[in-house]
Order: sequence, then C-alpha cells, then structure tokens
Amino acid sequence: MFNRRELIGGGAAGAALLLAGNAHAAKRTLDVAYVNGTVWTGLPGAARQTAIGIIGDRIAAVGAAAVRAATGKMTRIVDLGGAFVTPGFIDAHTHFLTGSKLLSQPNLREAKSPQEFARIVGEAAKTLKPGQWLQGGSWDAELWGGELPSKGWMDPVTPDTPVAVQRLDLHMLALNSVALKLAGIDRNTPDVPGGVIVRDKNGEPTGILKDAAMELVNRAIPAPTQAEKEETVRKGIAHGLSKGVTQVHTTELDWITHETLRGLRAKGETDMRFYSFVPLQDWQKLLALVKAEGRGDDWVRWGGLKLQYDGSLGSRTAMFYKPYDDAPDNSGFPIHKQADVLQWATDADAAGLQITIHGIGDKANDEILDIFAKVAAKNGSHDRRFRIEHAQHLTQAAIPRFAKQKVIASVQPYHAIDDGRWAIQRVGAERLKGTYAFRSLIDSGARVSFGSDWPVAPLDPLTGVAAAVFRQTIDGANPGGWLPEQKLTVDQALHAYTATNAFSGFQDDRIGLIRPGMLADFTVIDTDLFKADAKQITDAKVLRTVVNGKQRFGEGSEV
Ligand SMILES: [Zn+2]
Repeated sequence: MFNRRELIGGGAAGAALLLAGNAHAAKRTLDVAYVNGTVWTGLPGAARQTAIGIIGDRIAAVGAAAVRAATGKMTRIVDLGGAFVTPGFIDAHTHFLTGSKLLSQPNLREAKSPQEFARIVGEAAKTLKPGQWLQGGSWDAELWGGELPSKGWMDPVTPDTPVAVQRLDLHMLALNSVALKLAGIDRNTPDVPGGVIVRDKNGEPTGILKDAAMELVNRAIPAPTQAEKEETVRKGIAHGLSKGVTQVHTTELDWITHETLRGLRAKGETDMRFYSFVPLQDWQKLLALVKAEGRGDDWVRWGGLKLQYDGSLGSRTAMFYKPYDDAPDNSGFPIHKQADVLQWATDADAAGLQITIHGIGDKANDEILDIFAKVAAKNGSHDRRFRIEHAQHLTQAAIPRFAKQKVIASVQPYHAIDDGRWAIQRVGAERLKGTYAFRSLIDSGARVSFGSDWPVAPLDPLTGVAAAVFRQTIDGANPGGWLPEQKLTVDQALHAYTATNAFSGFQDDRIGLIRPGMLADFTVIDTDLFKADAKQITDAKVLRTVVNGKQRFGEGSEV
C-alpha cells in the first residue's frame, strides 16, 4: 500500500510544489471532491464556484471543470447539496482557555435579576465539593438595572464555596465572603494601582474587584493542571469547529494559553488552528523562543505580542479625552506608562515580533497610534502589521490614520449590537460618530479584522456577520441598524473573517481564500449568506468544517 503522505512529498513544501499549477497538470487525482456547492472563494470579483478538490492538506482544484478533470477512481465525492461554502472562519480575538472553561461553568448571562443571579450561583455551587472555587459567570448588571452584585447576594447560598464570578467583559469579579477571606481582602486592604476594590459606605469591600485588583483573588485560586487545561481547550475546539471556526488568534496577557496549546500540539494535530499572542512586556522571552524553535507551525503558531492599554466601556475604565456622560469625574485611565509602552514596542518591533495593543477609548487609540508612528519612524519600514484590538471609540481624525499607518483595526462586530443598547449613556451622541466605525475604517482604506472576544461574545462568526451587516442591537430596539451608516456588505464582513484575518496573522499566503495551493480550510453552511436577513444568518447552521484537508465537524467527519 502506498502511503498518501509520501506520495505528495511528505509535507506542505512537497504539496505546494506539486500543486503549483492546476490540478489537471498534476500527475495524480484528488483525494476528495466537494461538489454541488455554492462556493464564495474570497477572491475579489470572482464568480461563485460549485466544487473544491483536495489533495492531502491542500486545495488542489476549484470549479466544476477543474475538479472533474482531476477526479479519479479513488477520489471520494462529497455532494454538498447546494450548500454555501466560505473560506474557514478565522476569529482574530479570543480568550480561548477562559471561553473553553465557561463551557462547563454557570451561565450568569441568563440572570435578569439579583434573585436569579443568586439562584444560578447557588445551584452551581451545589455541584462542587466544599472549598472548590466557583468561577466563570459572564454576568451583565445592565440586565437588572445596573446595580453591581455584592457578596450579600451570594453568601446565603454559598456558605462553603468560594465564588469569583466575572462580568461579561472580564474587567470585574464579584466575590462572596468565603472568597474575600481566602484572598485576604478586608477593609484594611489597600487599593491596587490600575484597579479598584469597591467598598461600601463603611469601607467594607462589597465583593467587586475591578481590573488589576482582580489579581488579589486570582493568585489565591489553585491553578488547574496542564492535563486539565488541555482537556478544557479540547472542549473549546469542538465548540469552535461546530461554529465553522478553523483558526483563532488567542490574544492573551499571560503565557497559560500559549503553554496549553503547545502541550496539545505536542500530542498531535489540534484540529483547529491557533495563533498565540503573549504579553508585550515579555518580548525577550518570546524572542528567545523564536530563536530556539521558530514560530511554531500552522496548527499552533506564535510570534505576536499583546498589551492592554486601557480598560472597557462597560466598566468605565476605557480612556477618553472627556469624562463619561454618566460619570462626570471619570474619563478612564491608562494601565501602563506611555514611555514604557513605547520602549517595549520599539524593542519588540526591532526584533521582528508582531505587536497588537488593546485600545477602547478615543484617547487610548490616539496614544497607541502615536506610539506605533514613533516605533515605525525609529525602526524604519518593514512588514510589521501592527494591530489595535477593539479600536472601539475613535476621533474623526484617528479613523484615516489606520490606513495611513497600515495599522489593522481588529474589531468585534457583536460588541456593537451588544453595547449599542447603552453606549450612548456612557459617551453621548457626539462620540458615537466614531464608535464601532467599521464602514468608515474600510472606506478610508484600513484593513479591518473581525473577532468575537470570546467569551465576551459568542464564538460564532455567523452572529458576527449578521451584526456587521445589519447592526440590529440584541434588545431589538434598532431594527434598521444602530449607527446604520456603519453597516458592511456581506462580502466585506466575510473578508474581515477570512482573508483579512489571515493577513493579520501573517498567513495570507496559505489560508483565508479558496484557491489552489492554499491549505484546505473551509466551512459549509446551510444558508447562502448573500441572500439572507439578519435572523437567517444568525440561525444558519454550519454543516461541515474542513481544516487542513480533513472534515473535522459535521456529517461523515474524518477525525
Ligand atoms: Zn479581549
């Protein structure tokens, strides 16, 4: 018996060589032919195709004629029954380990009142052994009028369980009294720079910790083992594949996800691809890794760094020029000193590492753009692909700077239809003009990448496409679209989830398009997204997810 891998040269280099021409010219036939589909290839201006042929891990033929010509006796034929096909969805912004953990944690998004919050926490606590930490949550105080949770809500139902449940934006934790005690937090605990311990009028901690103060409790929680973390990520991978996701970028401020992914990769294919970011401050550690081992491979890749510049809109910690409309003494704050960020970014960029910085408020975004400009001026021109994660509130002057400075706006469309319910209360109508300004950015020539920020928003690109194209807020209050002038076309939204994200991860030569020679990553959906309304896109079902030439989700999967 022939070994197929040997036949195609044993790896990507051999396959690329063999497939450099069209499949007809190659001396062997397709392994798999997906036929009778409606294929959006992602190539600008290209007509729909109906068929995709695969040899090994690569796309070898596209289009009915090319696929037919390369089909042989051994080719497995998969009839797509007219289903819609897109290049595999890439999610440019996830907190993948955190999101994966939540798949088996209490869902506080369902809590619409303090009573429901307490009930869900109490029920989840019953499933744990005494002393075991209850985490996760994703609560949203806006659902019950805005009052922050307090230990008093939870204490009666959690006498033996330490609770530290997070706000859905990950910028606040709500603790019960057991957790406060284990974390050593009481009325005498001083505040933490870059964070807040919320206290009642008597000076007692209420249980809410914001931003850097969350570290006080995080270090009291015992760390899960490597095997437990890998098991958790496997659940996340299965979930992502079921949503048509073929790659995620993990935009993290620690190394935990990175190490977990490397552990998983050591055991074999990870089924979904990863591009792993680690903290900017640790650029020397990353550089040492790159020098010793390169940048990983197309399953788990690294070489990128992330920094958080400011906080979030929901927690009123995002940094603006002017105070919040609903908090006149507060305009947010930077997490790091500007001079430090400039130094880290200059050094990391000179070392050839990619940099992305989280920026939410208008002032934060301007300062990040200033830093990127200084770094580029100092280090000279090269293909650096700077990114700003969120780029959420921009001054009108900032919008054209993205294209001019070649900075990628890595945005999350679901946040727009979520925050759109209440953003005006925080920032007012004038500042909304540059809020989630996806269309303005694209029209100005900027590259716009799409992600979810999972678990802040669902790991579900279809909800993201619907959000970007229709901008209907999740409360149903804006059926014609919230800030409708910022709506995108389906084509633009799909590009943002595929080819642009491949570019944002320096992989546009091999993923993000359906074209001969590319790695065979694509997603099959039961609905033609170009002919659907918002609800039809959101409700569309992913039928199959193919990664690296193998179907890894859906009917007749190969793994
Ligand atoms: Zn994030």
